[in-house]
Amino acid sequence: MSQQELRVRFAPSPTGPFHIGGARSALFNWLLAKKYGGKLVLRIEDTDRERSSKESEENIKEALKWLGITWDEGVDVEGPYGPYRQTERLDIYRRYTKQLLDDGKAYNCYCTEEELETERQAQMAKGETPCYSGRCRHLTDADQDRLTAEGRTSVVRFEVPRNKPIVFTDLVRGTVSFDSNGVGDFVIVKSDGIPVYNYAVVIDDALMHITHVIRAEEHLSNTPRQILLYEALGFGLPKFGHISLILGKDRTKMSKRHGATSVEQYRKLGYLPEAIDNFLALLGWAPGGEEEIFSLDELVEQFSMDRVAKNPAVFDIDKLNWINAHYTKQADPELITDLAIPHLKAAGYLDEVSPEQRKWLLKVVAVLQEYISYAAQIVDHIDIFFNDNVEFETEEAREIMHDADIPNVMDAFRTKLNAMDELDGPSVKAMLKSIIKELKLGGKKVFMPIRIAITGKMHGPDLDKIIPLIGRERVLARVDTTLSKL
Ligand code: GLU
Repeated sequence: MSQQELRVRFAPSPTGPFHIGGARSALFNWLLAKKYGGKLVLRIEDTDRERSSKESEENIKEALKWLGITWDEGVDVEGPYGPYRQTERLDIYRRYTKQLLDDGKAYNCYCTEEELETERQAQMAKGETPCYSGRCRHLTDADQDRLTAEGRTSVVRFEVPRNKPIVFTDLVRGTVSFDSNGVGDFVIVKSDGIPVYNYAVVIDDALMHITHVIRAEEHLSNTPRQILLYEALGFGLPKFGHISLILGKDRTKMSKRHGATSVEQYRKLGYLPEAIDNFLALLGWAPGGEEEIFSLDELVEQFSMDRVAKNPAVFDIDKLNWINAHYTKQADPELITDLAIPHLKAAGYLDEVSPEQRKWLLKVVAVLQEYISYAAQIVDHIDIFFNDNVEFETEEAREIMHDADIPNVMDAFRTKLNAMDELDGPSVKAMLKSIIKELKLGGKKVFMPIRIAITGKMHGPDLDKIIPLIGRERVLARVDTTLSKL
């Protein structure tokens, strides 16, 4: 590895749905790797054995691939510093634990949960911040044998050096300082021999030659512990960059209350990966100019850590919808149709889709994709193509149908529609124009009642687009139905 090579990592814990914040961290790391010709490592941090699952790991990898975030080393692709799944690295951690114990930088602690709790309560009663007292720091071998004989199990604690300022330059937050006296001797290996996150992450980042640790701000408070471990283990420090928390629009931490939080949920709703990437990039990074639509290639070109903001990023769903609408308009109707079909089935519009029905549906979707933010919303607009029992959407729509010109407009429309050979966009457009001309009415006076007669609504896609798709028979039947409801 050359001195200059940038090596970043994304290190998810596979403990549940893949959160949008995780996807943002992955994207920022990927952008940096691509921009500087570096490498992105995907490491699975599965030391929390109860909460980790293979299914969640698969889900994360699947989502990353969907977003176009590829990794150069890591699980599945492997590489020179593997294995890349923490539970497969336990021997490695054990070696370093032995080193720390031998060097007197860590010690076995035999305190029970109850003893620790009593200690915490006593400290809090005195108004102190709870912090492990270091009671087991100086146990002799004989003490340890006795405690083991009592049936106690032990954890390994790191002996935090006293009176040591910890100062580092964060790529996003600037100078950050902590006092080691605020950190008690913390557990690095649990009684079952499994290392905790703060410990495993240091060994892995060091052995995997990670140069830049870019992660979410919630890990900022872990960084001093990690720096102390880097030093104790004799490893050089990487650069750290902590990207801002993602808040909901009400400025509280983004959670399920704010709507969908997992990548999977957005994917199922028919959001497009280009749009999610584009949106995630803007969650904390500010481009130089006014432009807000960026392809992945453009993001790689423009992304830089010095435009990553310190202040919290606000998850604005309206903005995501706006961005997704942009990509949806440009998308192949085949794709939007595929994404919409499960929702149309769930809403009861479709059952099995025959090849013929699909051909029709593709044209319907091509019309509607102008109007939606994401594919699932097709359901909210498609009624006009399915429902022949037209209902007036509003009282205003019904009122319009009482206009004095209506009988003439409807007669002309029925006659002309009946007389048409071929029903396509241009011929329907010409037919509607001829009504305007012959009745000497303004366009709105003709288009609006015809639209209401066919759909019950005052707004929607152009008539020359929808009439051929609904078809002559059904349009004529709808006009009769609507007029009979007046
Ligand atoms: N496994 C940690 C998490 O998912 C990784 C944190 C880090 O990037 O250091 O939050």
